[in-house]
Order: sequence, then C-alpha cells, then structure tokens
Amino acid sequence: MSPNNLIIKNASQVVTCSGFGAKAGAAMNELHVIENGAVVVEDGVISAVGPSEELALRDVPADAAVIDAAGKAVLPGFVDSHTHFVFGGYRPDEYAWRLEGVPYMEIMRRGGGIVNTMAATREAGRQELGKAGEGRLDAMLAMGVTTVEGKSGYGLDLETELKQLEVMAELDAKHPVDVVRTFLGAHAVPPEYAGRSDDYIDHVIGAVLPVVAGRNLAHCCDVFCEKNVFSVDQSRRLLQRAKALGLQIKLHADEISALGGAELAAELGALSADHLLQATDDGIDAMAGAGVVATLLPATAFSLKESYARARDMIEKGCAVALATDFNPGSCFTFSIPLVVALATLYMGLTPEEAVTAITINGAAAVGRAGQVGSLDVGKAGDAVILSYPSYRFIPYHIGINTVEKVVKGGRLVVDRAK
Ligand SMILES: [Zn+2]
Repeated sequence: MSPNNLIIKNASQVVTCSGFGAKAGAAMNELHVIENGAVVVEDGVISAVGPSEELALRDVPADAAVIDAAGKAVLPGFVDSHTHFVFGGYRPDEYAWRLEGVPYMEIMRRGGGIVNTMAATREAGRQELGKAGEGRLDAMLAMGVTTVEGKSGYGLDLETELKQLEVMAELDAKHPVDVVRTFLGAHAVPPEYAGRSDDYIDHVIGAVLPVVAGRNLAHCCDVFCEKNVFSVDQSRRLLQRAKALGLQIKLHADEISALGGAELAAELGALSADHLLQATDDGIDAMAGAGVVATLLPATAFSLKESYARARDMIEKGCAVALATDFNPGSCFTFSIPLVVALATLYMGLTPEEAVTAITINGAAAVGRAGQVGSLDVGKAGDAVILSYPSYRFIPYHIGINTVEKVVKGGRLVVDRAK
C-alpha cells in the first residue's frame, strides 16, 4: 500500500504535453490531448495514461486514491524555470522611484539595486530565508508549479552563496515543490571588487565554484552576461569551468544589449539562454541549431516597461521557447504563472498551445529535467494540475486569474482549492 497511488479519471481533457525533450518550432503547438482521459500514478510515478474507458482494472492499484475530474482539464505540473526566490529584504521604495522615472544609476546611489538585496541576504539568518522561501513555494504550488528553479546570487561571497543554496536544498527536501538549484555567483560585481570584474570572476572560479560543485549544492551554473557586468569572455571562462566540474549551464543573455549571450549559449551547449530581449537573428539561429532553450520572461519586460522578446521569430526559426516568471525582489516581483501566460499570449504572439508547452515540457528541458517531469508520460513523476475548467484554453483566457483547482505531486494531492 502506497500513499502515492492515485487515479485521476473522467477528465474532459488530459493534456499530456507528451515528450522527453524540448519541443522546438511548430512542435510547440502539439499538446497530445486525450478526451475523457485518465492518469494512473503508482508509487509516485505515472504508470498509465489514456482514455478512461480503455484503462483496465489491472492498470490501477487496488488502494489507489481516486479523483473524478469530470468537466476538468488535467495537465502536467508546471515548471517555473527561472526564479530568484530565496533572498533577504524587500525593495518597495525602489519600485516607487522607478514609477517616478528615477534612473537606475540614481537608484543605486540611493542604496537600491542588487547591492541592497545582497546586504539584506548576507544579514539574514537561514531560518528567516527558509521561512520566506517556503511561503513563496506554497503560493507557487497553489498556481500549479511543481518544479521551480531557484538561483543564488544575492550573496556574492562564499558564505552567503552557500547559505542560499543550502536553504534551497532544505526546502527541496521538505516542500512538495521540487527545487532545481542554480549557482549564480556571477550575478553582479560585489562592492568589494568594484571595477575589478576580472578579479571577481577569478575568485568565483577559484574559490567559490569548486566548493559549490564539491558539495553538490547546485545542478546548474548561471552568469549575468551583460554590458558593464560580465563580458562574453568572462562568462565563457566561468561556464567552461562549471561544465568541467559537472554542472549544467545557463545564461542571463542579451537582456539590455545584444552582447552575444545567445551565441555563447549555443557555443557552450547551454540548457537555456534567458531574457533575450535584444537577441539578434544570428543569436536566435545559433540557439535553434544548438538546441538551446530560449527562456522568455515577459513579466520582467512588463515590469520594466521594456519591449518583449521576439518569441514569434524564435519559434519560426526553430527555437524551443520556455516561459518563466523571473521572480526576484528588484525588477520583477511576481511569481504569477497566469500573468506570464497572459503577457505571452497577448503581447508576444504565443498560441495557447505554445504557452502551455512553454510552462511544461520546455520549462522542464530548460532545467535539465525533461526526462523526469514536464509531461504526463509513463515513467515520469506523478505531478499534475487539475483545472476548475474543461480546457487548457481557460489558462490564457482567464487573464491573471488562477484556474488551477487541484495539484498532485508524486501521486499525492497537495493542493485542493475546491474545498
Ligand atoms: Zn534572472
């Protein structure tokens, strides 16, 4: 008898998003929907998926819990593949300054910006960081997120970078949401290294990265590759070292300027390049050719009143696009999946089908877990969301509104908003 045996049956749609890798180009429109479908989970793992009437009794463990999903759509648990959800402090004054049009340099002079969060995160105790992180994971889970990527990068020193990653490891162990940990020691140049970004990269490569990798604290390594932050050469140096130490790699790329981050992601075989507001045609072609997931973060562009990334061009050129929230305390204080889907469909031209692919299987691919989560396929984790409505099309249609009624994690019902 397992508490992780479950059957979800009679669903108006089982939207499987079937696949074990990123879906590129036209394939993003293929959701593989089963009408009147069922999903069986045995010991936390999906053991059968198909039309309800075709599932034989022998396919279902005798002690399985039953969810009747009549009139409701079932999808894979969502994957938010880019967040910075563990941090100390808040920056509401800075938001107000931005609304007044205060330039970023002046905001920095007033003590805002990333250094503000760095100081608060260095100051914060583990318990405090964990408690705040846990509350955020609860809220994400209620919106259907069952796997989230979380980055360090608010310590910018060995001790605090490790603290952030360790807090995420603890949360991963105790919370239903799976946390994929990304080391982002090269998020910004800390004040101690002002004007010496090369020295800081040397320090990260020589003194921080080996400890992170040695203690298995991160699955991925990321870098803020941007003009006046870390150059393409510095980013390459760091990411090559990370790869050699066994980490998968990601980049904050071409957000503010077309520096060549997309091209670098393709050259190094990164899982994903993220932001990409300024990515060039050559960069997009390179990502498509190398199978790098283009992770787009429309809530950040919205929040900063920037133009959106060229999602349509990327899909037409054969890229796999993922959508994520970029939740962070500065440029984008939201982890709202409904908002991200609304922006992507209204302003970036994604179809409802492409948006669903972008928050499921392509999000999973962007964090290196397309083999384990992101679709309702036999052998994958029993992570599913059940909407209050009969079709996945209600997700974009209900603008900014949470349409998720139930969330199942590893075959266990962990959220029930119908109650
Ligand atoms: Zn980010």
